[in-house]
Amino acid sequence: MGALPRLKKKIDLKYRKGSMDEGRNCKHCKSFISDYQVIGIGGVELGIEPRCKIFGTNSSRRYRVRPDHTCDAQVRDDAKCWWLKKGASNV
Ligand code: SF4
Repeated sequence: MGALPRLKKKIDLKYRKGSMDEGRNCKHCKSFISDYQVIGIGGVELGIEPRCKIFGTNSSRRYRVRPDHTCDAQVRDDAKCWWLKKGASNV
């Protein structure tokens, strides 16, 4: 079985490895869905995987995104950034 073709939206938005600055990655993006339930043929639950609201929530693994990756449509969700919360400390 060959490799699946890359999703066109991933190519267009240059989906790629993320930054050392975590706030620029999928994990802290407004479009990131960390716990999407993947459903297979016959409604079988195949497990929880991350998805992106922009790329879509299809069950195919072509739609999977990784928390430590990023793309040109990344918009930081400050509510997901613990270090921005009042009184947060990373020591
Ligand atoms: S828009 Fe880009 S950075 Fe944001 S979750 Fe989707 S793929 Fe990741």
